[in-house]
Amino acid sequence: MSKPGIQTLEEQCALKGMRMTDQRRVIAQVIEQAVDHPDVEELYRRASAIDARISLSTVYRTLNLFEEAGLVTKHDFKDGRARFELIPDEHHDHLIDIRSGKVIEFRNEEIEAIQEVIAKRLGYRLVDHRLELYAVPLKPDETKK
Ligand SMILES: [Zn+2]
Repeated sequence: MSKPGIQTLEEQCALKGMRMTDQRRVIAQVIEQAVDHPDVEELYRRASAIDARISLSTVYRTLNLFEEAGLVTKHDFKDGRARFELIPDEHHDHLIDIRSGKVIEFRNEEIEAIQEVIAKRLGYRLVDHRLELYAVPLKPDETKK
């Protein structure tokens, strides 16, 4: 989404008129610093390490608030855990290693283009999409092919 990239999540919350408590500020920072796609429990672990007064339910409530405000996005990578990340400045898709749960971000222009073509053929203009690849690591003999 197009937001001036320099604004922190905390600043964006303030712009949306959200009341920012110390705890919300810590949670915002933790999300912002995450390079993986943490679930609520993991965000709770990181936030409570900074401020021990932060409870799991506060993390839940705050995440819902951020999500409703359109500042963070929720993913369901089929492992039963909702994962969160900031709305990225640039669109990307995800590959999920179903063995380890590792999430890899990628972008492929051919895929981007073909999706627009498909939508157009169906009579639509594409405005958004989500693509998740579920994969297992190649075995050593498979990498040669
Ligand atoms: Zn991502």
